[in-house]
Amino acid sequence: MAGIYVHIPFCKIRCAYCDFYSNTDLSYKDELVKCLCKELTQEKNYLEKEKIETIYFGGGTPSLLDEDDFKLIFDTMESHFDISSVQEITLEANPDDLSVSYIAMLRRLPFNRISIGIQSLIDKELRLINRRHSAQQALDAVAACRAAGFENISVDLIYGYPSQTIPEFIFSVGKMSAMDVTHISAYNLTYEEGTVLHQKLQRKEICAIDEETSIEMYKTLVNKLETNGFFQYEISNFAREGYESKHNSSYWRGKKYLGVGPSAHSYNGTTRKWNVASLKEYIQKINEDATAYELETLSDNDLYNEFIITGLRTKKGVSLQTLQEKFGGKMLDYCVENAAKYIINKCLYIENDYLKFTTEGVILSNGIMSDLLFVE
Ligand code: SF4
Repeated sequence: MAGIYVHIPFCKIRCAYCDFYSNTDLSYKDELVKCLCKELTQEKNYLEKEKIETIYFGGGTPSLLDEDDFKLIFDTMESHFDISSVQEITLEANPDDLSVSYIAMLRRLPFNRISIGIQSLIDKELRLINRRHSAQQALDAVAACRAAGFENISVDLIYGYPSQTIPEFIFSVGKMSAMDVTHISAYNLTYEEGTVLHQKLQRKEICAIDEETSIEMYKTLVNKLETNGFFQYEISNFAREGYESKHNSSYWRGKKYLGVGPSAHSYNGTTRKWNVASLKEYIQKINEDATAYELETLSDNDLYNEFIITGLRTKKGVSLQTLQEKFGGKMLDYCVENAAKYIINKCLYIENDYLKFTTEGVILSNGIMSDLLFVE
């Protein structure tokens, strides 16, 4: 079983923390949809005829598309892929796009999961990161999706805002976990180069919270969500029983997926490819039947690195026995030797054959994971 990811690279405005590829010029929307359909047709063999289990519209802001756009894309998928067994079809949406009429339109389409970018339930935090919705709009959007019959609703939360206090953080987490949602993704705010927040940090207009507070917030997050009936299945993801994101889980389980649209990535077990991160270049290349992506054939070392990164992100961790079976005793020794210092300083631990992060380790996970990778 495999997945299809559709990248919609439009945003009405840019959020202050975001370094994803997106474009605010919506005049290219129709042309983009045409090119997405063409790319789906061109790449119909990339997944080697595997049945499609999940479809995910991400962005950017997929909730800027209208009914005809979605119909064209779904019709194209149906013509070239076996989508008869699809279990999960997700749309990422901004709260202020989710009017009653827009949600009614989504209900006429095959979507069965909505992922809403709420980020915070405190207006001053939403303004700081330049989100275009208010806390009340976020609450209304969830209620409207539920009232329209969407049972599977996910929300995104960001924590660790500049100068955020623990009580402020607890307010958003508490309110979010009490909402009628099935899934919460929670991310620590990062200051990526080139973003407005990074510039403000450089100019000392804002002040990042310290590592100790970050760790305390993460621990509070895990406790609060678990108390409210969510179980953690990945570093940043929490679900009610039976509502893990099937699409995102398939990335962590090494399943195949095809990504279409500017900057989308694809993986089929043998190769990885990534599309050009420019809307205009993407449209031009697809229209000219030119290659709009770079492709690499994965070596054993790449597959090992992939196995470490995806395994460590999950709550279950990396199975050392599977690592040995797949990559041999030498790579097992390499992994354990590199993990040793992090086990000593209590960032990693081994339990029943699985190597996993401690809560402190999660905060430093990017650096730790890169130390465990095999670099020639
Ligand atoms: S966070 Fe989402 S809505 Fe905001 S700029 Fe990035 S892609 Fe666009």
